Amino acid sequence: MHGAPGPDDWSCIVSVLDEVLSANEAYAADFDKGDLGMPPARRFAILTCMDARLDPAKYAGLSEGDAHVIRNAGGRASDDAIRSLVISYKLLGTAEWFVIHHTNCGMEFFTDEAIRGLLASSLETAALGDEGFYDVGEGPGSQEANNIAFLTISNLEDSVVEDVTRIRNHPLVPAGIPIYGYIYDVTSGKLVEVPAATGAGSVATAGSAA
Ligand SMILES: [Zn+2]
Repeated sequence: MHGAPGPDDWSCIVSVLDEVLSANEAYAADFDKGDLGMPPARRFAILTCMDARLDPAKYAGLSEGDAHVIRNAGGRASDDAIRSLVISYKLLGTAEWFVIHHTNCGMEFFTDEAIRGLLASSLETAALGDEGFYDVGEGPGSQEANNIAFLTISNLEDSVVEDVTRIRNHPLVPAGIPIYGYIYDVTSGKLVEVPAATGAGSVATAGSAA
């Protein structure tokens, strides 16, 4: 969460556009994946955080066409994440799912009340000090954030258990899909199981609970 771009840095967006288009040109130049089918070949899906330090293709060994990767802030089982998971199995055949949160997640460092206050103050990027985020922008802000549940995290293991459990118990999710709960360690690159989450997401638990 440190080093977020501020208003003075927004001009950098122009060069990022050039960089991305240039990188894509190089990628497409020797592209040989044009015949991949739409359904994920390895029939699984990962729900994980948008954090820039996480690269699911690398930490989980994915190539193009292998798996669905659904990302949002925190890797939370929001209604929209569940929408994607439902499409993932119902139309595209995934049969195993992972919920992967991670250490040092930005979602641990604010509350709904805090970000609502910042957005009510201004729409510019906030600064981070010892006391947390504070607003440095000029108004006006907006009260619209009061209508958003930001799904912040107070305990990492609990959030994985909570999300696996929510998905497990969702009426549109079949009992036969195992859901594994993990925390990615940003300092080691390792996936660490949350046994209580994987337990909650197991097929047997779902079967006996149903
Ligand atoms: Zn995160």
